[in-house]
Amino acid sequence: MIAAASGVDAVKFNNKKLVMKKVMNTDNQSVPRVGVVLSSGGIRGAYAHTGFLLALQQLDISVSAVSGCSAGALVGGVFASGKNMQEWSEAMLNIKQKEFWTPSWAGFLWSLLLRKWRGYTGMSSTDPALKFCQQQLQVKNFNECKIPFSVLAKNLATGKKKVFTQGELAPCIVASAAIPVFYKPVKIGDDYYCDGALIDLAPTDTICCTHNLDVLIVHHVAQRSAGRPGLEKVMHQPWTLVTILNMLLYQQRPWYLSDKPLIFRRCPCGCDAIIIVIEPDLPELAWPITDTGSEIMQAAHQQTNALLEPHLHAIKQDALSMNHLIEDVSVRY
Ligand SMILES: [Zn+2]
Repeated sequence: MIAAASGVDAVKFNNKKLVMKKVMNTDNQSVPRVGVVLSSGGIRGAYAHTGFLLALQQLDISVSAVSGCSAGALVGGVFASGKNMQEWSEAMLNIKQKEFWTPSWAGFLWSLLLRKWRGYTGMSSTDPALKFCQQQLQVKNFNECKIPFSVLAKNLATGKKKVFTQGELAPCIVASAAIPVFYKPVKIGDDYYCDGALIDLAPTDTICCTHNLDVLIVHHVAQRSAGRPGLEKVMHQPWTLVTILNMLLYQQRPWYLSDKPLIFRRCPCGCDAIIIVIEPDLPELAWPITDTGSEIMQAAHQQTNALLEPHLHAIKQDALSMNHLIEDVSVRY
């Protein structure tokens, strides 16, 4: 348990003096502050993030802040609320499609024929997802979370990003995951919100400075574009339209990615935090199918264990010792 801020360890990096923002634990040992950022990734991402967090718990990595987008908002919110992650993994393995995807074909036709789609905002209601979310969350509001948590969504009116850090958790989480056209946007206060992945696939900037972090671990599981051969294959698979929409809306490659499953970056906001990016190699799973969720969860769990294990001492005790691993890219927020 973290008790009080203290200590300074300084090294030089790119001629800048870096100071570790470590704190003291109850045994009077200094520990880096570690944040976790969970990317979007659909149902596949929800399983993958669950496996990732199970691995972090197994590795005994203490988390000081959590941020998430879309699938990452759901899993991150449940984790931050204090849910037992073993129980959560079982809930995910038993989830039914009707708990998060309920398109009304009658409503679709009725709205088209009689109302010319007036007021028609999406194929599926978000009510079942909201209910599932409320059942799984251990607390109702952001300020009750065991770990500080933030959620990214897109404000439909302004087109700008919205980072939720207060109020009721479930509506913000559902808004962050509301894929345009497929889900109705979620009204919170006076505004409508939808999928935060339209802004940023993994919002590192939502927690890096506000929580004075030394290390951010980004678990990136948004699907990569499969290119032309992949698209041909998709044409013969279920839910082709979802995959096409996914390609159109979310094809941007975040600055922090590489072709490696593990890479170390410097946070571009100037906070000097080390960003550890994990992009596991996972089986495909087309939304909203849940059949192979356990395989994805297991693969993410095993790969996180294997990738982080060699760096455990640095993550838990000496973040500055990872400086030589950083591969910089010239990016600024
Ligand atoms: Zn930063």
